[in-house]
Amino acid sequence: MNTPGQGSTLTLLADLRQTLGAAQVLTEGDLSAWELDWRRRWRGRALAVVRPGSTEEVAAVVRACAAHGTAIVPQGGNTGLVGGGVPDASGTQILLSLQRMHRLRALDAANLTLTAEAGCVLQTLQVAAHSQGLLLPLSLAAEGSCTLGGNLATNAGGTQVLRWGNARELCLGLEVVTARGEVWQSLSGLRKDNTGYDLRDLFVGSEGTLGIITAATMKLAPLPAAVSTALASCASLADAVALLQRARGRLGSGLTGFEVMNAFSLELVARHFPTLPRPLPAAPWTVLLEHSDTEGEAPARARFESLLGAALEAGEITDCAIAESLAQSRALWQLRESIPLAQAEEGQNIKHDISLPVSAIPDFVAHTDAALQRQWPGVRLVDFGHLGDGNLHYNVQAPPGIEAAAFLAEQEEAVNAVVFDAVAARGGSFSAEHGIGALKRDELARRKSPVALAMMRAIKAALDPQGLFNPGRVL
Ligand code: FAD
Ligand code: ZN
Repeated sequence: MNTPGQGSTLTLLADLRQTLGAAQVLTEGDLSAWELDWRRRWRGRALAVVRPGSTEEVAAVVRACAAHGTAIVPQGGNTGLVGGGVPDASGTQILLSLQRMHRLRALDAANLTLTAEAGCVLQTLQVAAHSQGLLLPLSLAAEGSCTLGGNLATNAGGTQVLRWGNARELCLGLEVVTARGEVWQSLSGLRKDNTGYDLRDLFVGSEGTLGIITAATMKLAPLPAAVSTALASCASLADAVALLQRARGRLGSGLTGFEVMNAFSLELVARHFPTLPRPLPAAPWTVLLEHSDTEGEAPARARFESLLGAALEAGEITDCAIAESLAQSRALWQLRESIPLAQAEEGQNIKHDISLPVSAIPDFVAHTDAALQRQWPGVRLVDFGHLGDGNLHYNVQAPPGIEAAAFLAEQEEAVNAVVFDAVAARGGSFSAEHGIGALKRDELARRKSPVALAMMRAIKAALDPQGLFNPGRVL
């Protein structure tokens, strides 16, 4: 990648202004909404923030940048957690924001699909589906600001993966601007299409390094007739895993959520969001379960109560509270979804987004908690996540009295080695749903097999030979 000279930079900016209009090429004023990431960990400086309003404009921006050898960092809602969506500090990269591309292009109720532009905020798409009696089964705590394009670029997971899969499983087609500034469109909404290599799945999860997603077709489902939500207290993680197994057996595909939270994560929520109701007393582990049923309220409720009754009798749970209304159900989810926000209020921490076979999780946590306490006495673990998917957010907060930012700066590498070695020893992944970005690039190089890395590099070189898209991320 050439570093563009000043003359070339000025021509590029002039080209972009001509293509998009001067108002959509920002170079001055406070650009921190695009240059500073959600965790406030990475602050970059962009040559310009550009805001195209259509696929053709995205393609024109890419062609202009390619002609000048200027790198492009695509960005949606800027809620990513691995530093992949903000420019570096060089002041030479174009930040391409998809936020102005927010049209719902089609909603086909008979085909159970929705086609929307990449900058649509996830929640607005959920609401659009809901208004037609349909469900877009992708949900995460950032849904009020993350975008469809960002969800697909990171292959986001969230709280409904247990039943519906990751963003990848929900995606039927994409529209992508390639590094040559061409548009590849495949928004047919087909469930079956074996016509050669699966290009869609290359772009899903590529974190902006292979192409710019401008639109996507997503699967919908009928809205369930009844949804029941409960909190349950468990004395141990092994009990929570036993409850999961029981719930799967009893509810089958009706089990649509199974989240776990340790005592400290709920303590942080109580500290920073004291008005949120806490229906159960503190317990070592709290599970949030959700049951969705296509039958009516009464039979659904009876099945859910019978499951929880049997779990109480078996000693897998020690207490439980079932939501009696939609408002109560929302309040239970709010407890779970406030954990990342409460952590952010508490100060920076060392985040891990790991996955393991569910059966290996109790042993992983017991082993790793003990290993961390030995090396950093008093360290606090904010442990929560999607137990039903074998995915934990195993976050490490400085011991009391030690400054959070200093702990992060000085101990992150050593803490990561303890956590990731324990994950690897049990056949897990060091990045379950947040991706690689800038944060885990070295870890990827260290821990992925050389054969896999060589294939990834070959794909990158084939699709983006100039290295225009999000350089220094992932690979
Ligand atoms: P951004 O942050 O803008 O970008 C993320 C990455 O995608 C960057 O590498 C960027 O370059 C690239 N990108 C963005 N748009 C495009 C595009 N159109 N084309 C190509 N590349 C693009 N993630 C989960 O998986 N599960 C969770 O449960 C979850 N919970 C979260 C909770 C909170 C409170 C927060 C802040 C984040 C959470 N996340 C979670 C992180 C998650 O990755 C993002 O929220 C979301 O998927 C990113 O969408 P975004 O539009 O904000 O993308
Ligand atoms: Zn998550």
